[in-house]
Amino acid sequence: MTSITLVQGDITRQHADALVNAANSSLLGGGGVDGAIHRRGGPAILAECRALRASRYGKGLPTGQAVATTAGELDARWVIHTVGPVWSPAEDRSHLLASCYRESLRVAGELGARTVAFPAISTGVYRWPMADAARIAVEAVRTTPTAVEEVRFVLFDTSAYEAFARHLSGR
Ligand code: ADP
Repeated sequence: MTSITLVQGDITRQHADALVNAANSSLLGGGGVDGAIHRRGGPAILAECRALRASRYGKGLPTGQAVATTAGELDARWVIHTVGPVWSPAEDRSHLLASCYRESLRVAGELGARTVAFPAISTGVYRWPMADAARIAVEAVRTTPTAVEEVRFVLFDTSAYEAFARHLSGR
């Protein structure tokens, strides 16, 4: 049974086997979580991302997929990079957002990670409304079979924390 926990804070300060990065498809860094992970994690992560670009993801990491690197100076063994969908009012991209959580858990399971910390993917620059993103995230984790023992959502501010708490408690 996987336990789902919530904390409010900065994901780069978390200790976990794997930290999930809300990356963009270039894998070469960006703002938000991505920028914070590369800043605090140091150049080793970016070097591995560049190597992944050169070898497997010449066209970029597709939306909804996930890939791992080491975690550099972060207090974790791996960073799992996943690319969330940009919010669209015209098109339902929920399956792609759910896929980020499912694929990250699949990669985490393959690595043998027991604890995985997620940010609220797509809710920053990609503008996904927080309440809806929280619903999709919690449901995706709950319905994905995994050997990961703890999934921790790390929410940056109080309103994000409360959105996740509402869905976790079924309110
Ligand atoms: P995306 O491009 O997928 O929208 P962002 O990184 O822009 O990703 O934002 C995702 C969410 O993570 C937002 O809710 C943002 O407030 C939050 N966030 C930004 N920095 C951090 C951090 N250091 N730790 C945890 N959450 C963060």
